[in-house]
Amino acid sequence: MTPDSLQDVLESVEHPSRYLGGEINSVRKDPARVSLHLALAFPDLYEIGTSHFGMQILYEILNRDPRISAERVFAPAPDMDQALASRGLPLVSLESRRPLADFDILGFSLLYELNYTNVLAMLERAGIPLRAAARGPRDPLVIAGGPCTCNPEPVAAFFDAMVIGDGEEVVVAMAEAWLAWDRGHRRDLLEAWSRIEGVYVPAFYEAHYDEQGFQHLIPAAGVPLPVRRAVVADLDQVGFPERPVVPFGRPVHDRLRLEIARGCTRGCRFCQAGMLYRPVRQRAPGRLMEMVRRGLASTGYEDVSLLSLSTGDYVGINGLTAALMAECAPRHIAVSLPSLRIGSLTPELMEQIRRVRKTGFTFAVEAGSQRLRDVINKNITEVDVFQTLQDAFDLGWQTIKLYFMIGLPTESEADLEAIVDLVGRLRRLKLPKKRRGQLNVSVATFIPKAHTPFQWTGQEPLAAARAKIDGLRRQLTRPGIQFKWQNPEVSLIEGLWARGDRRLAPLLEEAWRRGCRLDGWSQFFRFDRWQEAVAAAGIDMDFFTTRPRDLDEPLPWDHVAIGVDKAFLQEEWHRALAQTLTGDCRQGECQGCGVCDFSTLAPVVHPEKEAAALEVKVEPAPTEPPAVFRLRFHKVGAARFFGHLETAGIFQRAFRRAGLAVAHSGGFHPKPRLAFDDALPLGLESEAEFVTVHLERRPKTADIIPALNRQLPEGLMVVAALEGKGSSGAEVFQYRLDLPLALSAAEPLALFQQADAWPLERCSAKGRLQRIDLKQVVSQMALGDDGKVILGIYQVDGPSVRPTDVLKGVFGLTSEEAARVRVCKTDVTPLSGMERQRCFGN
Ligand code: SF4
Repeated sequence: MTPDSLQDVLESVEHPSRYLGGEINSVRKDPARVSLHLALAFPDLYEIGTSHFGMQILYEILNRDPRISAERVFAPAPDMDQALASRGLPLVSLESRRPLADFDILGFSLLYELNYTNVLAMLERAGIPLRAAARGPRDPLVIAGGPCTCNPEPVAAFFDAMVIGDGEEVVVAMAEAWLAWDRGHRRDLLEAWSRIEGVYVPAFYEAHYDEQGFQHLIPAAGVPLPVRRAVVADLDQVGFPERPVVPFGRPVHDRLRLEIARGCTRGCRFCQAGMLYRPVRQRAPGRLMEMVRRGLASTGYEDVSLLSLSTGDYVGINGLTAALMAECAPRHIAVSLPSLRIGSLTPELMEQIRRVRKTGFTFAVEAGSQRLRDVINKNITEVDVFQTLQDAFDLGWQTIKLYFMIGLPTESEADLEAIVDLVGRLRRLKLPKKRRGQLNVSVATFIPKAHTPFQWTGQEPLAAARAKIDGLRRQLTRPGIQFKWQNPEVSLIEGLWARGDRRLAPLLEEAWRRGCRLDGWSQFFRFDRWQEAVAAAGIDMDFFTTRPRDLDEPLPWDHVAIGVDKAFLQEEWHRALAQTLTGDCRQGECQGCGVCDFSTLAPVVHPEKEAAALEVKVEPAPTEPPAVFRLRFHKVGAARFFGHLETAGIFQRAFRRAGLAVAHSGGFHPKPRLAFDDALPLGLESEAEFVTVHLERRPKTADIIPALNRQLPEGLMVVAALEGKGSSGAEVFQYRLDLPLALSAAEPLALFQQADAWPLERCSAKGRLQRIDLKQVVSQMALGDDGKVILGIYQVDGPSVRPTDVLKGVFGLTSEEAARVRVCKTDVTPLSGMERQRCFGN
């Protein structure tokens, strides 16, 4: 894609920064020095995909190899997709804007079944044949990884190879095999890949269906059956993103994310992740501290999030959090633990978390009755629930999120009533001073997932799921409770893909053809289109979703060995029906799930004392006095697509990375003392933007500019730094307008200059009609020597006038034409005495 066509497209879409690339820590290599070009594709929007930790790991691991260039691409939003389609442009990577079809390997992350249609949409926009069988020698190899590949069958037709399990070592082995390949027959490479543990090559397995409609796979000679999941035995021995990409815009997780452990052996029987990622493997506390230090230094983030399936279960979590807080709190950096289990969140931990910012809590209670919690092996009691919530309220949290499921196996009317009863009683818990807390209750339909003890159970039929959710909504719509629910239609489609087989491939194509896209977003999900597609493809939904399956029925994912024995899952199913609990093996007795061989693979748990003994490095208190600086900066080129808040965030983090500590306001929600003079409209360039910053210590003035410019992305550049606040006062903004060549500026300019008044009507952002006399607010408008229009606008009280108003009102451009004119703010000058008198009469 040429720079011009990209500019044209970016000017026509919302949130253009999604497609800019060039973020801090993104890697752009010289294509001539690279052998393997690999695109990491995320089939959802940039805001979701950039938050995905797994993709960040692979990006960094692959890019460490000078022979490999790993780039990124995300699903385009509908407006971008339309803009590309209407111009006949292909989908390109963020780093080099290389068309996806020109990559050697295209690797999708499959985290969510409702992203499947986006995979097809991205392939189509890239001009790559959808089905693996239709691809030729010039097409990229399309591969996939992520938790959804544990049942690869519904999407197997679209991938040349699929990675099952931990990706860190497998992708390196696959890349090595590609580099060693003679670039002859693709089959040779696929055979080499199929010999790597964790790689499934669907074309080597032929599907047959018996008279009951059950799928059986026949492997080609020499390929493995079952396909074993790849497992990294020791997380401390594999790469980790020390320089994660800092996204533009507002990603869903806008913080440093640190995976402290993988795997959870609590044994919740509905939880697929709890089975897929066994055994528990903790990273060493000392290494985690080092990762946080490096990650913060390379990103400038103001939040650190500790990730794992159940963060509070990390042995030594109190010591680790205390050590992190001791280093982070003085620097106004918050630490959050997003996935906490009731029972693992202690008051001690809460005390630590609230030291900087009280990040929110979501507790998955799952079921209202103890009976049903025992069926699912949740291992929490009502006493635990009440105690945890009361502790949180006592320590100042005012809103708590609770999560429940409907449609769990053996659920009865009494279990649903128990949810209402439990939430009602929790609502009576009081905050300090007898105030009432807020409960945000979320309910979703249980989806039986592959490789869990509940994989044989039927999913709740749609009508019943709707009725149950409606019933809960009616009873839980009360003051102090906010009730939210997952659309049961969405859950049904998710359940279909989670337990389907290869016969669903035509359905995916059908749904994609009918316009299903971004199905994980409620505003885009269209159940009617899915119903039509299901009918057109002749799929029996009930066969795959609501039908209970026999324990000895062949399952579409039987050829995938995740390590947990099927016999263990069957045993767990029987224990569920008997409401018998199964313990956690983390520090106790092995429950015999089959994952560990105890020579190459076993739980990795670091003793509590290791975290308790962590060394803390706290910066000494400042000896230099604080200082205030006013900085002038340019915002040009691609940076004109940064919104105001994005620009503020980019500067805030640039200050941190540059080692310039910004002072914070006081109070409960301290904010960095960074004030921008003007919110420049999106798309305008500027050589005269100003920000005033309060620094905790005075640096040498001459050091500020180079230190910051090293940390700012292309297009943002500090050009002057003056100590002191400066004063904006009443001013004139000067602009340079680069009008289209076809437009003659001379005549409208002459008319404007001769006129006594130039009335303009426009709508305010709130839809009110505004009347402005442009002659009163335009200080000058003339043609410069370079043929560009020089425009001055007074910044005085009243509706602020922007250059687009002048382009439309004086030069007669439409809004779309005005938006395409390159406008640059060139200076901000104080009002002259005469101007002041004219504007203010004094
Ligand atoms: S094999 Fe035993 S120790 Fe290993 S994850 Fe399974 S239950 Fe735990």
